[in-house]
Amino acid sequence: MEKIECSGCGLPTQVDDDGLCNTCHDKAEVALPTPVKSGYICFYDRKQIEVYADGLFAAKEEALRQFKPPKSKLHMVHCHLAEKDGQPVVHSTASLG
Ligand SMILES: [Zn+2]
Repeated sequence: MEKIECSGCGLPTQVDDDGLCNTCHDKAEVALPTPVKSGYICFYDRKQIEVYADGLFAAKEEALRQFKPPKSKLHMVHCHLAEKDGQPVVHSTASLG
């Protein structure tokens, strides 16, 4: 094994397949189990965004952050599950209106 720079800490060392030294590799392993997020399509005032969140509630919160609707239009923000576990979710009826 040749010594190349670790892409994590930048030290010249023996690196793993992922380009990280043992120390950084271990850290990465620990950090890996990220919560599985689902994709949501959120609608507001003819605008449409896609957000990734771990629940419909979180998705809507994110949508509110991005759309910044006035209080009187909060109810116009709608989110639909679009992707779960990397698979697209098909809705039978499009509730766009
Ligand atoms: Zn490192």
